Amino acid sequence: MSETKQEEKTYFYPNKWGRGILTSAEEIMGDKGVQALLNMAKLEKYIDNYPPDNMTRAFSFEDVSRLQAAFWDMYGKRGARVFATRAGEATFKSGLTQFKSVAAAAEVAMKVGSMDAKVKIGMEFFSKFFNSVSDQVVSIGEDEKHWFWYIERCPMCWGRKTDEPVCYLAVGVLQGALAWVSQGKKWRVSPTECIANGAKRGVIAIEKAPVE
Ligand SMILES: [Zn+2]
Repeated sequence: MSETKQEEKTYFYPNKWGRGILTSAEEIMGDKGVQALLNMAKLEKYIDNYPPDNMTRAFSFEDVSRLQAAFWDMYGKRGARVFATRAGEATFKSGLTQFKSVAAAAEVAMKVGSMDAKVKIGMEFFSKFFNSVSDQVVSIGEDEKHWFWYIERCPMCWGRKTDEPVCYLAVGVLQGALAWVSQGKKWRVSPTECIANGAKRGVIAIEKAPVE
């Protein structure tokens, strides 16, 4: 605490999620690619030294954000969007197994009702899960045509300033979660507002009608 500004509290993701981001990055870009990414992010400490596979909150928001910024620097905007989305999906599959194991109750609830009801139950459950195991703060909302995933405290753009929404990792994670909830359907998910872009909170919009 000695060096940090007093008003700047440090927030964390569970180690498992940080590990999930790195292992899924490795799947996509290979271990050389991850090394380059970690160098660029000035996170050499994780080279051949991924965080342990546990739910301890020790992977800082700053590190999450630096990794996202490094994607941006390495692949450009367009590449980073695609890349972060894929990494998010892979992270849901590999890093959020904890979620799936505690989601048995939600699964039972999701067996009944319309697709709308399933997605709503799934998102409610998923947001509570995020809030309880990480320092990310999310809430959900909806209008006639969209579901909204509000990110009140966002690790992905922590400390960044950008000219457009950048939190595509959340897009991928949500796509993974929604596919799981809806037995494989695809959904249009887009970040419409971002704290790095001057908004009060991040907003990810999901069209209520699945693509297919
Ligand atoms: Zn953001």
